Amino acid sequence: MVDISRGSALGTSGASELFQLLRDGVPRTRASLAQSTGLARSTIAARVDELMRLGLVTPVADAASTGGRPPSQFALNPAARIVLAADLGASHATLAVTDLSGTVLVERSEPKDIALGPEAVLGWMVEQGLALIEGLGRDRRELVAIGIGVPGPVEHSTGRPVNPPIMPGWDRFDVPGWVQQHLEVPVLVDNDVNIMALGEQALAWPQIEHLMFVKVATGIGSGIISGGRLQRGAQGIAGDIGHVRVARGSDVPCHCGNRGCLEALASGPAIARALREQGVDAASGGDVVELVKRGDIDAIQAVRQAGRDIGEVLTACVSLVNPSVIAIGGSMARAGEHLIAGVREVVYTRSMPLATEHLAIVQSAAAENAAVLGASMLAIHHVLSPEGIDALAAR
Ligand SMILES: [Zn+2]
Repeated sequence: MVDISRGSALGTSGASELFQLLRDGVPRTRASLAQSTGLARSTIAARVDELMRLGLVTPVADAASTGGRPPSQFALNPAARIVLAADLGASHATLAVTDLSGTVLVERSEPKDIALGPEAVLGWMVEQGLALIEGLGRDRRELVAIGIGVPGPVEHSTGRPVNPPIMPGWDRFDVPGWVQQHLEVPVLVDNDVNIMALGEQALAWPQIEHLMFVKVATGIGSGIISGGRLQRGAQGIAGDIGHVRVARGSDVPCHCGNRGCLEALASGPAIARALREQGVDAASGGDVVELVKRGDIDAIQAVRQAGRDIGEVLTACVSLVNPSVIAIGGSMARAGEHLIAGVREVVYTRSMPLATEHLAIVQSAAAENAAVLGASMLAIHHVLSPEGIDALAAR
């Protein structure tokens, strides 16, 4: 039983606390809400009425005809509000407007260089976001939050990128403050891998509370969901596995200044470089993927070895966070089973049996949509929290 009789220690109202039971979208009766909370039927009725007044909860028709009686079940109304989700990549940006269940209502993707700087990129995001909302025939006042993913480290509490290597002009830039000059709603910012973990979980593993998302592309990083929550660590760097040393690469220099980093051995550019040293014509990670798809044996072996290197680092991660799912995404995941097979080979051999007994190591299901879906979930999680619901009620 959840004690929601007096709201939380953060001073949230009873209605916003009750909403936490209804936000999963499963229809419930007032009686079942009273039973699971221990609250009086009259209290439940008043709080349900308040949530209906906000439009967040809606009556759901009973399966059997009630012969003209009013419906007795209630559930989250995902259509009540909208959020704007932005996946701002190194050279490409995707925007989506979603409802409160994360269903994409409209999406737009176009080339956009993050190195243009924050004002140019965020200005584009605001302008295009408003155009998408207008195109849907929705009022901009229905927008309740914005979730943004960027390709660099972010101090999540302030929404400021910190020393992002490929984002000139963005260091310590107040992203929420700038966006809120134009759209006065909460703005949540996180790095791309963290939001990809949220997107993957929402799309493919909604019941899974322990999940790692590993992005293998130009760089390598991971997002960790543990106990149902994204784990950012003290400074937002949790899951940044690209510069962990792997045994095979002791003399390989990395752009970070160290030697033997995972990223220097198993990223797309690193695999391409290794192939070139063998005389194979591969300029980029994309070329490597194409070679693998054509069945090139050298490329397949190089990708499989990269999988083993990634598996070496993930073996330590499995011991540390004991996930039930590891989803491999990013552009190199398009090389398919060869990369995953290398990861599995090492993780399943080197981990303790109990840790791998129910561990699935799979290709990302959300694929290129993981980030924009995750940006939407970042915004929705904020909006539907007890504090978020209170803020909506106060608007
Ligand atoms: Zn490094």
